Amino acid sequence: MKYEIVIGLETHVRVGSITKMFGGEPNAVALERDPNINIWPVSLGLPGALPTLSEGVVDLAVRASHGLRMTVNTFSQFDRKSYFYPDLPMGYQITQLFHPISEHGHLDAFVGEELKRFQIRRIHIEADAGGSKHSVTKSLIDFNRAGSPLMEIVTEPDFRSKEDVLEYLKELQKIMRFTGASDADMEKWQLRCDVNISLRPEGSHELRNRVELKNLNSFQQIGRAIDAEVKRQIEIYDENGTVDQETRGWDDDAGESHSLRSKEDAMDYRYFPEPDLPPLVITQEYINERKIAELPIDRRQKYLNEWKLLPDDARILSSERAMSDFYEKTVALTNEPKKSASLILTVILWILKKGDEEIDFSTLKITPEALAKVVNMVKNDEISSTNAQEVVRILLNEGGDPDAIVDEKWLRQVNDTSAMEAIVDAVLAASPAQIAEYRAGKVNLFGYFVGNCMKESKGQGNPKIFTEILTRKLTQG
Ligand code: ADP
Ligand code: MG
Repeated sequence: MKYEIVIGLETHVRVGSITKMFGGEPNAVALERDPNINIWPVSLGLPGALPTLSEGVVDLAVRASHGLRMTVNTFSQFDRKSYFYPDLPMGYQITQLFHPISEHGHLDAFVGEELKRFQIRRIHIEADAGGSKHSVTKSLIDFNRAGSPLMEIVTEPDFRSKEDVLEYLKELQKIMRFTGASDADMEKWQLRCDVNISLRPEGSHELRNRVELKNLNSFQQIGRAIDAEVKRQIEIYDENGTVDQETRGWDDDAGESHSLRSKEDAMDYRYFPEPDLPPLVITQEYINERKIAELPIDRRQKYLNEWKLLPDDARILSSERAMSDFYEKTVALTNEPKKSASLILTVILWILKKGDEEIDFSTLKITPEALAKVVNMVKNDEISSTNAQEVVRILLNEGGDPDAIVDEKWLRQVNDTSAMEAIVDAVLAASPAQIAEYRAGKVNLFGYFVGNCMKESKGQGNPKIFTEILTRKLTQG
């Protein structure tokens, strides 16, 4: 029997707001070097402490929602989800169940060559719990994270393979960074994922019992967990068994999952509207002001289809906002997408990648304006493309004005044809034997003539013009 994989994702993304969700305490992961140093009354649930919603959280959640092409609701509401756990000091989590901040969006991503669309059901915002660590003899609790804002992004069961899931998550990460909503760094617990998996016979459209794998937080882990769960379910179905609807935990070291709770002992969270917070009402204007026109995937397709870049180059140049903005500005000033891309990829990125500092295009010594000047000089035959690379290298290390660098380093290309004719004449006069051989059919000697002309002009002659003059003189001869 052949099975089709059906997966839906619930992804938690930490909102990168300055303050936590319901109070003035910093929402800074950087502060979390030591446990329990970033704890204030509201997040600790101290008696009498009342929450007030941070506007920064709403701002970024709306931006993220636009990035996922959601309908943002002007009215949403918070709900109280009660459960007991030591790292949940209030005894309940404030979340949104009945009226989430946004609904009905989608994310487009390339899976291999194919552009796929994954539907997103809803995004709600909620406060994180603290963290606990258990050893054999004791449990430790850290409240630094308590009250930090999260977005839970829930998809439809639209994924049909592990690759679908991984490409969705990579694109989601890019969108979160592009919109400024979150760095979405998995290692820093800014993005984690619950993966719901079921199988069905190929060709069928039923939705069978699903298993939810909780709290996965690396691409490798997610890949391994999906493979193992698919295998586990195939084995059950192949033996005519049924898959229980349950929540399982993934043990990455052991390479297997274990049951956490089954459908029967699913928790009753006693949801009800949060009495300590008013509904969240925002204007359509507030929503519209935060729209984002172009996403990474839109830029990638533009680079590919309109600007005719190679697929890998289009992917790289659209993947990160500062680099992509740098590239777009350069193209706007040159109208030369390919030449601009080439200098960024083969010179700037290539050099930056050799260093171990994080690459940030917004703080480079070379500006898009300077790079555009270089591109335009190549376009106007003022410098050769080899020399352009040299100028970009200097600009990257020292900054400065391309014109001044070109003059200082004697890199300007000579396009003066009468001077170049003289060089060609001199080169030909010194090579009678080669001319004879060339005319007798040894045509690859042409490169020898061009090379000598370039040498004679100290690299400043335009090779295109030399080629023209040489062709004329050698065929006339
Ligand atoms: P809830 O947890 O609120 O009951 P659902 O069960 O409908 O909501 O969905 C939770 C997540 O599980 C969603 O991401 C959804 O796409 C996914 N999902 C629902 N049914 C299935 C299924 N049969 N197989 C795989 N994923 C599913
Ligand atoms: Mg769920």
